[in-house]
Amino acid sequence: MRCLVCQETIEPQVTWENFWQVPEKEKLCLTCWKQMERIVKPGCPICFRNDDQGICPDCQKWTVTHEGVLEKNVSVFRYNDFARDVVARWKYRGDYVLMEAYKKDVSKAFHKYYSDKEPLVSIPLSEDRMIERGFNQSEAIIRLLGRESINLLEREGMEKQSKKQRAARIHSANPFRLTTSINEPIILIDDIYTTGTTLRHAASLLKQAGCPKVSAFTIFR
Ligand SMILES: [Zn+2]
Ligand SMILES: [Zn+2]
Repeated sequence: MRCLVCQETIEPQVTWENFWQVPEKEKLCLTCWKQMERIVKPGCPICFRNDDQGICPDCQKWTVTHEGVLEKNVSVFRYNDFARDVVARWKYRGDYVLMEAYKKDVSKAFHKYYSDKEPLVSIPLSEDRMIERGFNQSEAIIRLLGRESINLLEREGMEKQSKKQRAARIHSANPFRLTTSINEPIILIDDIYTTGTTLRHAASLLKQAGCPKVSAFTIFR
C-alpha cells in the first residue's frame, strides 16, 4: 500500500493493541499523518484562528459589519504548508480521494461540535470552476461525512481571484443567490476558511430569508 499523499510505501504498524485485530487499511505514511496539524484547541472561538487572544481582530471587525450572521466556524486542520500542498493536489487535480485519508479526523472534529440533525448546505462553484475541476469540494466533504448536501444557493459570475485581491474580496458584492429559503439552523460546508467572506456572503442571504442560525464547518483554517 502506498501513501495517498506522497506515494511512499507504507510499512504496516503492528502493535500489541492491533495484533489480534484485522489491520485497518492505512492510507497515509507516518510523515504525512504527522504533518497535518490537527486543531485541538481553537484560538478564536468564532473562526478557529490560531491565536489565544479570544475573539480575533477579524471577527471583531465582522461583528461590526455582519453582526450575528455567522454563529461560528469549526475547522479540522491548520492550513500549514503541508496542507496547502495536499489541497493543491486535491482541488486542482481533482484528486479528492486524498481526503479519504483524513476521513476519521474530519468526522471526529465535526461531531465534537455539531450533531447530525442540522442540514449541511453546500457552497456552489461557478460553472467555469465546476467544469475545470469536475467536482464540488463542498459536496465532497459532505459525502465524506456520510451525509447528503442541501443546495440552497446558486453562484454567478467569475470567481477566480488571486491572493492580492483577497483584501478587496472582503468588500466585494455577494456572488450568491438564494434559491430556496429554510427556517431551521443549518451548517455551511466548505474546504478552507480564509477571510470568512464567502461563508458570510452565503450566511447573510440565508439569515435574511429566515434561517435562525448559520454555522460553518471547514477542513482548513
Ligand atoms: Zn506520505
Ligand atoms: Zn476569529
